[in-house]
Amino acid sequence: MNVTVHRGARQIGGCVTEIASDECRVFVDIGENLPGTGCPLPPIEGLTAGDGSKSALFLTHYHGDHIGRLDKVLPDIPVYIGETAKSILLNLAERIYRDRLEMYERLMTFKPFKRIYAGDISALPVPCDHSALDAFMFLIEAKGLRILHTGDFRLHGSKGRLTLELSLPMLGDIDYMVCEGTVLSRDGQPPMSEHDLLVKANKMMAEKPYVFVLCSSTNIERIAAFYHANPKGRMFICDSYQKKQLEAVGERHNFNRVYDYAPNLDSHMKDKGFCMLVRQGEFFRRVMEKFMGENAENCLVIYSMWTGYLDREAGNQGLIDFLKPYRYRVLHTSGHASAEDIKRLYELVRPKRGLIPIHTDAPQRFAEIVPESKLVLLNDGEVLNLNDK
Ligand SMILES: [Zn+2]
Ligand SMILES: [Zn+2]
Repeated sequence: MNVTVHRGARQIGGCVTEIASDECRVFVDIGENLPGTGCPLPPIEGLTAGDGSKSALFLTHYHGDHIGRLDKVLPDIPVYIGETAKSILLNLAERIYRDRLEMYERLMTFKPFKRIYAGDISALPVPCDHSALDAFMFLIEAKGLRILHTGDFRLHGSKGRLTLELSLPMLGDIDYMVCEGTVLSRDGQPPMSEHDLLVKANKMMAEKPYVFVLCSSTNIERIAAFYHANPKGRMFICDSYQKKQLEAVGERHNFNRVYDYAPNLDSHMKDKGFCMLVRQGEFFRRVMEKFMGENAENCLVIYSMWTGYLDREAGNQGLIDFLKPYRYRVLHTSGHASAEDIKRLYELVRPKRGLIPIHTDAPQRFAEIVPESKLVLLNDGEVLNLNDK
């Protein structure tokens, strides 16, 4: 058995991990680099080059830094993702990335805790908490070895307890853990929980009747926080695309009173007050202008995404320009585990033979956080032979 981190051993995002037996290769994620950073994707035997007939690819979640290079995958390789994650991707493709529609339609789906086999390797999808809905860790087993790949995770969202109390304790003995460490290069306060964010949002929203929230259309848990924080009697509004995304979520969240914006709602919005989900673009700008023009003092704009997008140098210029005319307040919390929660995860899993950092630009910091771990620091493309140890 071998483990190779083709990309992402020493950078955040753009990850590709391979776990191989003599017979088969299983890959986890094939991400695009985050804007402005990262190494080029090398050709990967059995995934993007050569023979893919004995390979399978498992996707932990729908963020671009985990699925963004799906276009490179050889056509005969089965690619798996969670069912709701697939619906969310299809909606996104219909709206924005039409050229990816066919690729997403071909994705195969799995159910939580239902094992998938690829030759002599199996993968068990283990639901976890992250800022993407329907995110999974994978327990990969072959030849008596058990490897947990965490994907991106956190413990301070609404699925944090489920991750800790239901998912992880049932895994049994683990030999190796491939673990994300996004936050390890960022010193900072422990992240606010999504629940505390909801409480804060409610207080902020109570001060102004007309609230515009700028957040990712696929951060469903965040949208749920604003939905529930919206003071009683006010309308909850978005565009038809966003409404479709909320419908795709089904029973996971109960978004039963969401309005699809049309100008005939304006007078009701004025009377009742509202929370409207917005994204950059002319459609939303026009609606915002309508209310700001007459009622600026009654309006509140909340920015609920990573503040890195607003950096003057590496940020998203479209977003920066969109926000320029407005005074806004920031209300956000991370999608990634704090150092403390990485330690909590480690203590639950206790990998016997090694801890392999990925999705981090400070892999050596795992040694401070979990000094008792057998840390295996790899470089991109380096093959770790598990039979040697
Ligand atoms: Zn990521
Ligand atoms: Zn992610």
